[in-house]
Amino acid sequence: MEHLSRDVAIIGAGVTGLTAATRLRAAGRSVIVLEARDRVGGRLWTDHIDGQLFELGGQWVSPDQTALLETLDELGLDTYSRYRDGESVYIGPGGTPVRFTGDIFPASEHTQAELVRLIALLDELVAATDAAAPWAQQHAAEFDRISFRSWLEQQSDDAEARENISLFIADAMLTKPSHSFSLLQALLMAVSAGSFSNLVDADFILDKRVVGGLQQVPLRLAEQLDDADLRLGHPVRTIAWSEAGATVHTDDLEVEARHVIVAVPPNLHSRIDYAPPLPRLRQQLWQHQSLGLVIKVHATYDTPFWRADGLSGTAFSPYQLVHEAYDNSNHGETRGTLVGFVSDEKADRMLALPPAERQQAILESLAAYYGPKALEPVVYYESDWAAEEWTQGAYAASFDLGGLTRYGALQLEPVGPIRFGSSDVAALGYQHVDGAIRVGRRLADEILS
Ligand code: FAD
Repeated sequence: MEHLSRDVAIIGAGVTGLTAATRLRAAGRSVIVLEARDRVGGRLWTDHIDGQLFELGGQWVSPDQTALLETLDELGLDTYSRYRDGESVYIGPGGTPVRFTGDIFPASEHTQAELVRLIALLDELVAATDAAAPWAQQHAAEFDRISFRSWLEQQSDDAEARENISLFIADAMLTKPSHSFSLLQALLMAVSAGSFSNLVDADFILDKRVVGGLQQVPLRLAEQLDDADLRLGHPVRTIAWSEAGATVHTDDLEVEARHVIVAVPPNLHSRIDYAPPLPRLRQQLWQHQSLGLVIKVHATYDTPFWRADGLSGTAFSPYQLVHEAYDNSNHGETRGTLVGFVSDEKADRMLALPPAERQQAILESLAAYYGPKALEPVVYYESDWAAEEWTQGAYAASFDLGGLTRYGALQLEPVGPIRFGSSDVAALGYQHVDGAIRVGRRLADEILS
């Protein structure tokens, strides 16, 4: 057993943990980062599959994500725009693909008017919500008690408009069915991205990508640490703590530290043993936050054939297995790549199928948008984050009904020398890499002050 001593022990080498570590180190504190996996980056993972580079985890950067943009700049990383020239495709309840441009998809006048009205209403509610304290919203208790789905049913009699509004928060962001989270949770999701309108605007929310992949952010942050201060393959099992400090145990390492940062998603906090156990409400809190479920699918073709057909690659439908899909061709490549997403209950159904049947069903859904050429990719890959022991879902954690008002404020509180944080508890940038950077900075600054 190796024994070490540091000012701060950080658990998790995702963007949150590495941001905190580099900031603390720059301020002269000794740190160690203990990571369970054999790589850094957590939910950021840029890898080659059959020779093709894919972003298996997070990838997009939007213009409001200033903490991430600053970090990209500091690390010398370049961005490029997502391909978006041409028409988008929408498939309505009738199943026919329809081409369009702009944000509002082609539907009946009534449905379009309802969409515009609901977006304006949500923008108003979002403007009255503080991303850092949604539980302090004037109507927080009421808004946290009603599911997003039930609230939409109260607001509009137009099912197609409701399904589409729901898609932007439920399928596309929280990756949970809209009956399982509250209106308040939906408002937090939207305010963390600036407004509900921003979430609807794919050109805003999915604006840029990083040349070479977004995992370079954690990789370059990790390069700033000494080898001895970053231990891969070291799952933390136990934190023994008192008000004075803590001892963090992995299978073959003990680190004594004045402060500890647990930079792992909240659903994994309880995989660590705490001695003594943490206060009762902390133990309750964990039980009300869970990760969503989404399968991210990549399909690469010899050429981006949809571009020649006048399509941008942007496609969505609440009625399709793949509820949204985009041109995800890498910078400078001649091959074309589509990325699609299968969320929540649709993902449950797919994961119950044998892999070949699942692939066929998903490709057929892509073909519904782009035509039969989509059925024959040269490389195909499904990211299965729910099967990853050190994540267990995607993209991130959200509260169950009522959880945000009961426990939201508590998630920011330290327990003795231990602080908890990840993108899942961010305000601005919630569930995103930008939020991970903001939380990493905040946790480091709390310790430094
Ligand atoms: P994580 O990245 O989860 O890091 C936590 C780390 O802790 C992991 O490395 C884990 O292995 C480690 N760990 C866990 N338990 C232990 C333990 N007991 N001991 C030691 N180590 C432990 N965000 C965007 O901004 N844009 C996107 O386009 C985007 N798309 C996404 C697509 C997918 C498929 C996924 C999964 C996520 C996406 N995200 C996106 C979200 C983004 O990736 C995350 O919000 C962000 O990377 C989280 O960083 P983090 O450091 O807070 O947590």
